[in-house]
Amino acid sequence: MRTVLFDLDGTLHDKAASLQACAVDMHTRFTPSLARERFIARFVEENGVIQPKEEVFARLACAFDLPAGLAEQMRQDFDRNFARFCRGYPQVKPVLSGLKERGYRLGVVTNGRDSFQRSKIASLGIEPYFDVILTSGELGIKKPDPRIFRAALSALQAEPADTVFCGDSLEADMIPANALGMTTFWKTERVEPLPASVDLQFSHFSEFLPLIDKRPPP
Ligand SMILES: [Mg+2]
Repeated sequence: MRTVLFDLDGTLHDKAASLQACAVDMHTRFTPSLARERFIARFVEENGVIQPKEEVFARLACAFDLPAGLAEQMRQDFDRNFARFCRGYPQVKPVLSGLKERGYRLGVVTNGRDSFQRSKIASLGIEPYFDVILTSGELGIKKPDPRIFRAALSALQAEPADTVFCGDSLEADMIPANALGMTTFWKTERVEPLPASVDLQFSHFSEFLPLIDKRPPP
């Protein structure tokens, strides 16, 4: 049976937009006396880097001379509340629903802490579309390790040749999925020529269903 696996952050979840919205809220509640644009830019930048959140908030504390207690309070608040600010990319839901109507089984394979990733998926309102959700936090294995991709295939009893992997990262998503024999859809701004690990690219979800209809997995 045909399967589509998705990465979460930067693919279904518009992480940059969510961080921006969260930064505005945190500035208002915790650091209103700081220069707003500078705080927001740095907040988005630090949270965009793959590093522990303790490090993110320690770096913010250092950059803006915040007391350690306040930075820790902000970190806890971020953990609790970030999901509220989560935004999906336009047309994610119609695409997931269109794939279900076409009989595809759907999964998420995402790197991050289990409860954090799951709270984001729930907040996006897309949880019911997925037959399986795998997080690196739960498995103790993260992309690009092929074992997390194999775990998703095995949970769905899917063959790589019948499976599309859709993600925004070449290193974490496209290269390992391609190496396992999946069809790869890269969410990116237009790139030419396409890297060898990518079968198709798209920048907006309005392109997705026509693409998969034109080139479904065999
Ligand atoms: Mg990603």
